Amino acid sequence: MMASDELAGRVAIVTGGASGIGAACARLLAAAGASVVIGDVQDDLGATVARDIGARTSFRTLDVAGEESWQAVIDDTLARFGRLDILVNNAGISGGAGTIEDTTVEAWERVHAINLDGVFLGCKLGIAAMKRTGPAKPVAKGAIVNISSIAGIVGAAGPCAYTASKGAVRLLTKSVAQHCAEKRYDIRCNSVHPGAIDTPIFNPLWQLVGREFGKSLLDSRHPVGHMGTPQDIAEAVLYLASDRAAFVTGAELVADGGITSGIQRKSLLAPP
Ligand code: NAP
Repeated sequence: MMASDELAGRVAIVTGGASGIGAACARLLAAAGASVVIGDVQDDLGATVARDIGARTSFRTLDVAGEESWQAVIDDTLARFGRLDILVNNAGISGGAGTIEDTTVEAWERVHAINLDGVFLGCKLGIAAMKRTGPAKPVAKGAIVNISSIAGIVGAAGPCAYTASKGAVRLLTKSVAQHCAEKRYDIRCNSVHPGAIDTPIFNPLWQLVGREFGKSLLDSRHPVGHMGTPQDIAEAVLYLASDRAAFVTGAELVADGGITSGIQRKSLLAPP
């Protein structure tokens, strides 16, 4: 991984940073010079990942579904660093593959509490923190990156709750971007829409069909011929978090190996 200093002096919070995409984001932001706070419900793993990344990276327990938990992590970050510049709202769960007919109210609410309320709380409290300006920050300045999904752009029969939550994250992102621009805060807010990325989120599927078979199926669904890696998504996040994206807000960055760009000829011609 190439080290750079383009985020030197910036402070970032990455939710769900103990695993998968979040861990890759934390690693890449730290390599670019940022101080990174990993927030996750996985205490041991989060602390291990933070230690492994090393300099300027720490772990705090965070349940993104809880306002008090969020406030504690943000207060702690401001107390330690005096600022918040970058927020990556990445924590999320798949919540299973339930369709509209077999999703329970409890399952629906749990998925939305983490995938959607978690992003709402992060944006709300994150903006408030970014607005608490110091002498080095004459205007509220920052970058928020929300991890949605291609399931937030196109529908699927199941998982119904996941799809709804990710679609809502997509438009919440645009609402936040519009608000910050209207207020003349220099706070940008964008969403990233990954295709299938090889992370522990797929463990339940691997247990069901076997990792090798499941992965080969998912590989074949991507026009480029393979699933993505956490690093693929972290690179998109780094771009949106950096000043290179200074004029980019309210945008959706799709990183899906071509899945949503069209219909694969082989799937059109495949026998029913
Ligand atoms: P992952 O490896 O399971 O990582 C997600 C992390 O978030 C886990 O450590 C998880 O802990 C944690 N988390 C769950 N609930 C939380 C909560 N309430 N508060 C704080 N942290 C919590 O999954 P991933 O694939 O990296 O997914 C990261 C994000 O990308 C998610 O929003 C996901 O929907 C999105 N995404 C993933 C893919 C993909 O194919 N992997 C595709 C599109 C979008 P537990 O393991 O204990 O739940």
